[in-house]
Amino acid sequence: MTSSPPKTLATLLQYGLADDFARKVHEAGLTVTMARALRAADLVSKYGLSLAEAQVLTESVRRRPIDPDVVNLLLQRSNFLCNVCKGHKGSSYILHHIVEYEKTQDNSYENLVVLCPTDHDLAHRDGLTLGITVDQLRRAKIDWERQVANANAQLAMHKSTMGSNVNVHGNDIQMAVMPVARQSLEILPQLRAKYPRSLRPEMTSVQFVQSQERCYLEITTANRVNDYLVDETSKRTDLAFISGHPERLLFDPGRSITENVHCFISDFDEVSIINCTDLFTHTAAKRIDDHWRQHGCGPGNL
Ligand SMILES: [Zn+2]
Repeated sequence: MTSSPPKTLATLLQYGLADDFARKVHEAGLTVTMARALRAADLVSKYGLSLAEAQVLTESVRRRPIDPDVVNLLLQRSNFLCNVCKGHKGSSYILHHIVEYEKTQDNSYENLVVLCPTDHDLAHRDGLTLGITVDQLRRAKIDWERQVANANAQLAMHKSTMGSNVNVHGNDIQMAVMPVARQSLEILPQLRAKYPRSLRPEMTSVQFVQSQERCYLEITTANRVNDYLVDETSKRTDLAFISGHPERLLFDPGRSITENVHCFISDFDEVSIINCTDLFTHTAAKRIDDHWRQHGCGPGNL
């Protein structure tokens, strides 16, 4: 089992497109071959891209693609998160050339780093105020990959003491993608960052849990009984019924938990959240529902 994005998206990631932009290009029905053949004007008029997006796409697909194994390794070792802000500025990602591609055409693992779009912009301001330098990028990558590896090693250790069949050998990263009986990741901090005003305040934990058969959320809430007693209640919400593209589960136990979590945080919109979970307050859920009925989309600013 590997932890990799769907194939067509992975191909677009190989050309250094940001994952959300790659998704947009993919959903517009475009392939790399088409993007190479079409003029920017056609990409705008026929495929709904902005002129800036069309230019980025046209330029990107002229490059030599990054080896898919390198893409997967970078994403796994970074837990699909920006190496600089660790996902605090947003969960979408882009593969950035530490020394710019135009200078060296170097697509090696060593010359690439996973960044969010915000830090990607800052990395392109190297030498300017507030820009991120090449040295800072290299250091951030080493630090973050080490933290992810440590977390994965701990996770694997935890699973093996829990009696599941993880083999603790090989490198740390492989451990993280081995099938285990049950894995969970705490996602409340990421949800709070994305929805600072709308989550139910009494929640103390939101775990994304996945077994070999299914994915679900385990939401824990705390209710103060009196001065010294706090009752905690955990409730599981099955995510198995949610389908994304036709015939395909949005949260697929066949994929890695980090990938499913990434999908939950970045792709699962607020309208889906209110329909499938009870993460939001009643007021927020009503506001989202009203906005959706009037405008066909969520309100943003949550
Ligand atoms: Zn970042």
